[in-house]
Amino acid sequence: MNERIKNLIEKLSSYHSLSLEEYEYLLENVSEDAARLLQEKAQAVRQEHYGNDVYIRGLVEIGNICRNNCLYCGIRAGNAECNRYRLTEDEILSCCESGYNAGFRTFVLQGGEDPFFTDDFITSLIGEIKAKYPDCAVTLSLGERSRESYEKLFAAGADRYLLRHETADKAHYEKLHPSDMSFDNRMQCLQNLKEIGFQVGCGFMVGSPYQTVSTIAKDLKFIEEFQPDMCGIGPFIPHKKTPLASFSQGTVEQTCVLLSIIRLICPKVLLPATTALGSIDPLGREKGILSGANVIMPNLSPESARAKYEIYEGKLSSGSEAAENLKQIKHSMEKIGYRVVITRGDVKR
Ligand code: SF4
Repeated sequence: MNERIKNLIEKLSSYHSLSLEEYEYLLENVSEDAARLLQEKAQAVRQEHYGNDVYIRGLVEIGNICRNNCLYCGIRAGNAECNRYRLTEDEILSCCESGYNAGFRTFVLQGGEDPFFTDDFITSLIGEIKAKYPDCAVTLSLGERSRESYEKLFAAGADRYLLRHETADKAHYEKLHPSDMSFDNRMQCLQNLKEIGFQVGCGFMVGSPYQTVSTIAKDLKFIEEFQPDMCGIGPFIPHKKTPLASFSQGTVEQTCVLLSIIRLICPKVLLPATTALGSIDPLGREKGILSGANVIMPNLSPESARAKYEIYEGKLSSGSEAAENLKQIKHSMEKIGYRVVITRGDVKR
């Protein structure tokens, strides 16, 4: 490993910040040795703040109807072959019930941007969940909404909101989205969520089409400045019914390097080893945890809905991704020296 890379990793560990040029240099020159050093440093930092604990989140995919046409997404409005569904309030509550009984203390309600899920629908749902499970956190991942809508959801008791920024480079954003979607609006939504008081998660796909070291460096700088409470990154996986079908997939290696870098930028961030990582490598989740991640989000959605929520192809939705196999997840974490804990798992301040 060259001396400059070593110094940059030391600098990042101590100051949690690099210049854009330094991030670019690090990304361009990361050798196996450097990746190992980043991983060791990231593990030490997560150990300091979270010990060996792995937090679990129960993911409920409440519907796959979306008004948008993000060019990479399998459930985009333009995919006429997508088999659409919406869960009812009762179905969602029943997912939460089985999740609670299995040991989940955070429910993540995720869906496309579907006007059917009005503020009234979601606030009533949050109220039901909070009344039944006051010891649980509710995380929403429902895309871009107005500030007023976010305020209502927060007032109803939602604790966290996930909204991947996708890319911090406007020109790159415009290559991944149709012209009726706005980079500025997405960034404004993230600011609004933070100001309102949510624990906020941003994130991006690793290896997305047209991504370069320069756009990733901007992502890292954005994360450094925005200071998210959560950060979801996973490899880009193409879906054949999208305009970006012919692009190649992101790699486990690059995702793991970025997980370690993000852990060093934001030592206390809640960092999931994402489903996408587990989907392209049977040991992807373990590799993510060993690179500094500390969260896993198994799927609590009903069996019938899981295959339909296909945002990318080959998405893991059974086996160890299913909540009923939580035991297997616990076991796989124990094998690498970590333990799944039953807790809301809030970010350490
Ligand atoms: S990425 Fe999200 S907003 Fe875009 S089409 Fe897919 S579900 Fe809709």
